[in-house]
Amino acid sequence: MTESRSEQAVIENLKRIRENIDRALLASNRSPDSLRLMAVTKTVDPSLVNAAIHQGVDLLGENRVQEFLSKKEQYDTAHAEVHFIGTLQKNKVKYLMQDVSMIESVSSISLAKEIERQAAKTDRVMDVLLEVNIGKEESKSGFFAEEIEEALAMAQDWPHLQVKGLMCIPPKEDAEKFFCKILQLFVDNQGKKRDNVNMSVLSMGMSADYELAIRYQSNIVRLGTALFGKRSYPMV
Ligand SMILES: *Cc1c(COP(=O)(O)O)cnc(C)c1O
Repeated sequence: MTESRSEQAVIENLKRIRENIDRALLASNRSPDSLRLMAVTKTVDPSLVNAAIHQGVDLLGENRVQEFLSKKEQYDTAHAEVHFIGTLQKNKVKYLMQDVSMIESVSSISLAKEIERQAAKTDRVMDVLLEVNIGKEESKSGFFAEEIEEALAMAQDWPHLQVKGLMCIPPKEDAEKFFCKILQLFVDNQGKKRDNVNMSVLSMGMSADYELAIRYQSNIVRLGTALFGKRSYPMV
């Protein structure tokens, strides 16, 4: 990986990532259009984000509402859509209604209800993923796997949400076991017909494990470090 944060480095990193993705898709007999590459922008200068967009990256992942609001005017978002992927406080939901096409980090019923309320206010339907704390880690938020059924059942009361699937950050150790587990949960729920639910998106895989995630049918890989280089300060 090229460490320096330059436009040239982003272009080279992206080329390598795309080769890796193509290889992983081929090895799993998957078609290229079954996967989207997300550029995770936290701490990254907008000029570098735009360098990725100009190379055809059409999906950005935002972690922090404040950071997003301060950077969004500088993004060339005519050519890219934005998903929110970070921890979200209920009082910040309203700031996302205009510019975000999906909230991937719905981690509680109360957050879903607030998104429903704000989406109703602005007369739109917000796509969401339910975040699953698949490894039951204290440091992470999200539903436990066994709470997902109930949350999906509640979605019938949320006409301004469209639940599109699941998102997870597995424990670093033994990621494969947890990818396997969430895929099972995803597939189990795919067959069930529910109002406002259309299970079609599985968002998992980051810089360290995206090729493995592709083997387990991920539809969105979320890449920060592999694309933009190391962040100067740690931040999840
Ligand atoms: C930071 C972050 C990523 C990207 O992580 P990298 O390891 O830098 O690729 C993906 N998803 C979420 C939710 C993140 O916070």
